[in-house]
Order: sequence, then C-alpha cells, then structure tokens
Amino acid sequence: MSEADNESVVKIEAVLNDVDRALERLRAGTYRTCQVCGSAIDEQSLLDTPLLANCTAHPELS
Ligand SMILES: [Zn+2]
Repeated sequence: MSEADNESVVKIEAVLNDVDRALERLRAGTYRTCQVCGSAIDEQSLLDTPLLANCTAHPELS
C-alpha cells in the first residue's frame, strides 16, 4: 500500500469507530444525549449528522 492508501485506512477506521460508538449509544439509550453535558441533542442535528455525539455547545464529534 502507498502512503496515501495508509492515510485513507486511518481515516476510514476513524469513521468506523465513530459508527461503532454511535451504534453503542443507540443500544445504550444515550444516542440523543450529549456525551459531555448530558442534555438532549437536537433531532434535526442528528438527522443531518447521524454520528453526532454532542450538543451544539460541545461540537467535537468524539
Ligand atoms: Zn453538551
């Protein structure tokens, strides 16, 4: 694999991790809850960004 391919693998694996975490949150019942402050995440935000883990006050994805 080229260096660019390796870089793609790293990025794809990061996306997979985000997907895994989103599925975990769905199963645990915390999908619609901010991982930082515990407040509810806006429904439309989740529709736009299904992997969203935090509310708008805590925009980092993971
Ligand atoms: Zn928050």
